[in-house]
Amino acid sequence: MKLNILVVDDNRMMREMVSRTVRMSALDVGELIQAGNGQEALAAMRATWIDLVLLDLNMPVMDGEAFLRALRADTALRAALVVVVSTESSQPRIARLAALGAGFVHKPFRPEELLAEVERQIAGQRGAPHDCPQAAGNPMRAAP
Ligand SMILES: [Mg+2]
Repeated sequence: MKLNILVVDDNRMMREMVSRTVRMSALDVGELIQAGNGQEALAAMRATWIDLVLLDLNMPVMDGEAFLRALRADTALRAALVVVVSTESSQPRIARLAALGAGFVHKPFRPEELLAEVERQIAGQRGAPHDCPQAAGNPMRAAP
């Protein structure tokens, strides 16, 4: 099944790097869309069905955490898989993101790290209802 992917980052070069990583991966990519902040991302998601969001945190206008909260509160959009890609290292903040059902990859990332986290989110989606992100804990999550 093709995945429609939205790459959200205020840095154009980073958007290109993330986009290139998914394009060169084994993922079956459908639409590949970019947005420069959370507000643009919400607008893009209302225009095009998105399966997976690769999300920066620090952005102007609407940051990644505010976007994620808005996304999970929106019944039409909340099912999207989200992987945060950020320099963030605050464990409480990373825990808040996890509670909102988002995976996490540190910037700078290696392509295989990003893709492994995407695969974990896809596997979790198969194993658990979206309304219960904690239940997305799947056997793969514990793997090295
Ligand atoms: Mg940023």
